[in-house]
Amino acid sequence: MLVGRFAPSPTGILHLGNLRTALASWLSARAAGGRWLIRMEDVDGPRCRRDWGEGQLRDLAALGLDSDGPVVWQSERGPAYREALERLHTGGGLYPCRCTRKDLQLLASAPHGEDGLRPYPGRCRSRAWEGFDRALRIRLPEGPVGWADRLLGVQTDDPAALTGDPLLFRRDGCFAYHLAVVVDDGAQGVTEVVRGADLRSVTATQIRVQEALGLPRPAHAHLGLVVAPDGRRLGKRAGALGLDALAARGIPALDILGWLGWSLGCLERPEPCRAGDLIGEFDWARVPRDEVRAPETWA
Ligand code: GLU
Repeated sequence: MLVGRFAPSPTGILHLGNLRTALASWLSARAAGGRWLIRMEDVDGPRCRRDWGEGQLRDLAALGLDSDGPVVWQSERGPAYREALERLHTGGGLYPCRCTRKDLQLLASAPHGEDGLRPYPGRCRSRAWEGFDRALRIRLPEGPVGWADRLLGVQTDDPAALTGDPLLFRRDGCFAYHLAVVVDDGAQGVTEVVRGADLRSVTATQIRVQEALGLPRPAHAHLGLVVAPDGRRLGKRAGALGLDALAARGIPALDILGWLGWSLGCLERPEPCRAGDLIGEFDWARVPRDEVRAPETWA
């Protein structure tokens, strides 16, 4: 059975791009008669807020995107992440990293990867184990990773060129995104990961982490981003293009759903509808790959 999920970080509001990802993931799961889960990715302590997360859940409910099963909050999943780190350590995959942000800036000789990511150059790779209270990275095997993206077709990336060995545990005691996302997709039985194209560049790395943990590989679909009418990238700041700001401008949820559904290839033109009306019309083969501009009149 298809198990999809939407996994926002509660660092602000959900903007149109986040809502489009949520809708695509929900439609894909519902069209296949599968399950759909919501996970709040609030491992990054200082940047995440519970009230942002609750606001995001209200927005998803307002669009009619119902989920199966309770919402998982990553801040409550520490023991599972710790257990995964222990398993990776037993397999000999982890090493302590003492590089500071400044060291990494000075060391970076490799060109920036996509999205300005700088791959970790591996300076601490041969450092001996010093315990679980250090920043920890995983030693990834060399070579490219391929996957069949539901939207983009066959993709191949080399983690060494994009992220290098990813950080799984941070010096400040937080579990890192690349660990938490992989552990939870595995624990929740997720079989389909739908997310924004801005995360395409970390997929090969996460597949490697999945393999190191012996977890099954979900299918992936990386959606084109929604940009503002002037082409700028959307942000999660309050007042940005989200449900509340649009409601304040007199644009109801049904109009937003119609526009989102049209942008996903479900409707011939944007016209008000409910999420459920779009299920029968959803087909990955009709979802455009490119980025989409938000309507001029909504900005
Ligand atoms: N929490 C991530 C974000 O909001 C998304 C993670 C994912 O979909 O894999 O950017």
